Amino acid sequence: MNIEVVGRFAPTPSGRMHAGNVFAALMAWLAVRSAGGRMVLRIEDLDPRAHRPEAAQLLIDDLRWLGLDWDEGPHWQSKRIEVYAEAIARLDEQGLLYPCFCTRAELHAASAPHASDGTYVYAGTCRNLSPAEVIARSARRAPATRLRVPDATDPAGTIEFCDLVCGKHAENLARECGDFLVRRSDGVIAYQLAVVIDDALMGVNQVVRGNDLLGSVARQIYLQRLLGYEQPTYAHVPLLVAPDGRRLSKRDRDLDLGEIRARDTGPEQLLGRLATAVGLAEEGERMRADQLVERFSWDVVRTHAERNVVFASR
Ligand code: GLU
Repeated sequence: MNIEVVGRFAPTPSGRMHAGNVFAALMAWLAVRSAGGRMVLRIEDLDPRAHRPEAAQLLIDDLRWLGLDWDEGPHWQSKRIEVYAEAIARLDEQGLLYPCFCTRAELHAASAPHASDGTYVYAGTCRNLSPAEVIARSARRAPATRLRVPDATDPAGTIEFCDLVCGKHAENLARECGDFLVRRSDGVIAYQLAVVIDDALMGVNQVVRGNDLLGSVARQIYLQRLLGYEQPTYAHVPLLVAPDGRRLSKRDRDLDLGEIRARDTGPEQLLGRLATAVGLAEEGERMRADQLVERFSWDVVRTHAERNVVFASR
């Protein structure tokens, strides 16, 4: 029996969708629909600082306008705090968590940058504080919560995986990342933990997203193993870059869905251009999302994704 493919959209409602987000969402949706699978929508609204209340509604509306539908959700991470707290308790029972009192400035001073995503390698400053030190420091500052990773020489701490687009990867957690946060000092649950729990409990077995998150995979697999979850398939699709090689960003206002929808050209022009960029449509073809389903293939996308996907503002 074939296992049903379950994919997801997992946007953070920090602003309007942008052509780059649309591209990743389109790939996730096509991978599911072409396999006759099921799509879950989850709004990643855990961080009150990154979250704009009106943005989630606009995201949902933009996905509908694009013709990218889903079968389950929206789930809201902000309503699932108890689920995350239960997992934190389980990790704590395994003796894997400890409070960390380091300030941002201390972290930067003591650490080297993470190889792939620019975050730091934690130096282990708070790893072995005595109970008395923990009590004394807690009186001055609320701690964050960190998860221990295995020592550099322990095979359990080297995570290997094969990405559908990017191929084989390996990361030694101790060397390239260090003990990492599962809860921030302001109580906000860390993305790495929430995403792993939600993907597992929502039955997601195929994670398709932008390759800015490739550097998170090893941490996520480590958490899956500790919590007893299945490992999903990963496909990290390229980020869109401008013709000069610069990564497209929110500064490219004309690629913002607010601007694109105001032009009233329908979603077909944008979807056609995005599909062309990865070999799924001919130059100038206008496409609806559902028309791309039967053309989708990871082989085609992979060949075009070996280099950056150039996308010009227009
Ligand atoms: N919420 C994350 C974002 O919008 C994506 C998380 C994921 O796909 O794992 O960047």
